[in-house]
Amino acid sequence: MDEFALIDRYFASARCAQGDPAVAVGIGDDCALLELAPGEQLAVSTDTLVAGRHFPVDCAGADLGQRALAVSVSDLAAVGAEPIGFTLALTLPSADENWLAGLAQGLDSMASRCGMALLGGDTCQGPLTLTLTVLGRLPRGQGLLRSGARPGDWVCVSGGLGEAAAALELVLAQREVAQPLARRLLERYWSPQPQLALGQQLRGRASAALDISDGLLADLGHIAKASGVAIWIDADQVPVAADLAVAWGPDRALELALGGGDDYQLAFTVAAEQWPGLQRDFPQLRRIGVVQAGAPGVHLRDVQGRQLSVPRIGYRHRW
Ligand code: ADP
Ligand code: MG
Repeated sequence: MDEFALIDRYFASARCAQGDPAVAVGIGDDCALLELAPGEQLAVSTDTLVAGRHFPVDCAGADLGQRALAVSVSDLAAVGAEPIGFTLALTLPSADENWLAGLAQGLDSMASRCGMALLGGDTCQGPLTLTLTVLGRLPRGQGLLRSGARPGDWVCVSGGLGEAAAALELVLAQREVAQPLARRLLERYWSPQPQLALGQQLRGRASAALDISDGLLADLGHIAKASGVAIWIDADQVPVAADLAVAWGPDRALELALGGGDDYQLAFTVAAEQWPGLQRDFPQLRRIGVVQAGAPGVHLRDVQGRQLSVPRIGYRHRW
């Protein structure tokens, strides 16, 4: 199968590539052309996933498609953008038709969950790698940045943490756990739900935000640095699912929640007066700490306010 047959069969014909009011020209020309309303800004983010590095080489196409799009769209959620669409640069070692059909179907199902249109891409032969660029829209100047946290703000997260890092141990066959926990963890890992509705509702309410891809403490470090503030996290307030704490033991489960990546929940800071309204609209939100004046950094404390050592830092590529 040549490049153009492959694009036609699996991507140009995918449901998510069929027309959308925001897409004036989609797949098939030199560029996609998009409609933007006056007063809007375009939000753009790119993520690359490399086989053997970001996902197991033998992973199912459908799992990879869902996960690749979800982790990319999560960046749109983090700035509070409304999704428009994405491009897919695909490097493939071979054209396995079942695997490709699975990949297209996985992308399609996450695209419809998130309201994303496939806008175009690139296809070439080589080691398995996916690069997705996601595009979204925002009212001008309202994007949620990492730089707005202020002393006195509360630090919040959008939901339970540590499950994707626990799931990775299952994915890598380092560990087995019983159902239904195993099923839920794998679902969290392969099909994370980008927090799009929350991100949009945080516009004008949160002072800073990001999505947790590399681990809570490591990612909050980016807010601390960009905002020039100290962040204190109350270890006992970090949301860890009860069955995860039982299966992994409470200490290890907390370590996964603080240091493990891949959950794609949002972490954000808000002025205290914003909290009651937010909690009413999103009951799953948890308040886990405070922002203070001081040298930029993230610290952990126990119920008595004693400083705890930080277990391990988030994932970083190194050369
Ligand atoms: P060009 O040579 O102009 O860069 P290509 O021949 O690479 O364009 O691609 C032809 C069309 O197919 C373009 O509209 C491009 O966006 C789209 N396309 C290529 N690969 C993919 C893919 N993996 N998924 C979606 N669209 C793709
Ligand atoms: Mg061209």
